[in-house]
Amino acid sequence: MPPRTLPEKEFHSHAPGYWQDKNVTPEQWNSHVWQLKNRVTTLAGLEEHLTLSEEERAGVLLSGNKLAMAITPHYFNLIHPTNPDCAIRRQVIPRIEETWEDPNEMSDPCGEDSHMPVPGLVHRYPDRVLFLVTDRCASYCRYCTRSRVVSGVGEQELHTEFEAAFRYLEEHTEVRDVLLSGGDALLLSDNKLESILKRIRAIPHIEFLRIGSRVPIFLPQRITPELCQMLAKYHPLWMSVHVNHPRELTTEVKEGLERLANHGIPLGNQSVLLRGVNDNPEVMKSLVHKLLMCRVRPYYLYQCDLIQGSSHLRTSVSKGVEIIEHLRGHTTGYGVPQFVIDAPGGGGKVPVNPDYVVMKDDQRTLVRNYEGEFFEYPEPGNQVATWSSTPANRLSMIWEPGAKW
Ligand SMILES: *Cc1c(COP(=O)(O)O)cnc(C)c1O
Repeated sequence: MPPRTLPEKEFHSHAPGYWQDKNVTPEQWNSHVWQLKNRVTTLAGLEEHLTLSEEERAGVLLSGNKLAMAITPHYFNLIHPTNPDCAIRRQVIPRIEETWEDPNEMSDPCGEDSHMPVPGLVHRYPDRVLFLVTDRCASYCRYCTRSRVVSGVGEQELHTEFEAAFRYLEEHTEVRDVLLSGGDALLLSDNKLESILKRIRAIPHIEFLRIGSRVPIFLPQRITPELCQMLAKYHPLWMSVHVNHPRELTTEVKEGLERLANHGIPLGNQSVLLRGVNDNPEVMKSLVHKLLMCRVRPYYLYQCDLIQGSSHLRTSVSKGVEIIEHLRGHTTGYGVPQFVIDAPGGGGKVPVNPDYVVMKDDQRTLVRNYEGEFFEYPEPGNQVATWSSTPANRLSMIWEPGAKW
């Protein structure tokens, strides 16, 4: 077979991009403080560089009272100047559809508020907790599942009582895993973040720390050697990043991810399945290949939560299953994430998989492989009539759904 070229497989630097004529020194560009200070947050800021559609203009004007708009210059440079269908645009530029009401949508789709024993701590699973340490992010994803508390303009304020949370963790010896998120924990200063990590690390039963962050993608300048050295003092510490489209993996992002990996931090990726962004098997294959090159293991692919104003970004569950089928067997197993639905209302993450087990009884299991061929596996002590010891071990049968076996 001829080698196929996957979309946007290369790593590029897009700097200085739209900031070309603005006399920005490399020192400024490479400073996360400068990047944060120069985020694009207004309609005028967008229109200085981009031609917006009516849906986008109206969206920017109307939706900003629910979830602020902010885009770092680094990430802004990935946006196509004129195409409203650009996969990067759809993630960070509001559209009028955000104000639409859908009866299935919720402000807290994963039911987090009802699982908070103390403010800021979500304890849903038996042995691990989610600790929301800030309400700020480097840029705001339009489909944010936590838009009710994130960015400072929404309906709720994020209350985090650090002392109460630390006490809860100390008392609850069943908790062995703490996941820092927010907002984005990497927006805290090194000192503030270290004070939290140090305090949690001092609790003997906490075995495992992780940080969920999109800062390596939105603001790779924040991944400084100093930050990495600090984090490495608190091992085992893992990190889950959030990349949805292969173009987000720029040269600068790759360098930041490699720096984290070089400091012994295992990296996973959590993608959200988004219409017009990554609901395409070839785009997802390109993404997982690039992640592996950055030493990031694709971890989860999320069905988009039923967050208010996300109908234009959601797609069908079967699309997610189709993407997994397109990856499993066809490419590196490390590159295949687990597709999950975070159960609406607060049931936690539920895996959703293609059906590879076609039929099963107490003597045998009939499975289907990635190429659509059928194989029979006998249970211990059972002799299956059609079982053959040839390496191919294939059944030459066509199975139709509902057929008697
Ligand atoms: C996702 C999540 C976790 C972590 O789940 P893992 O499957 O272990 O990655 C923990 N707590 C909450 C509330 C979560 O939503």
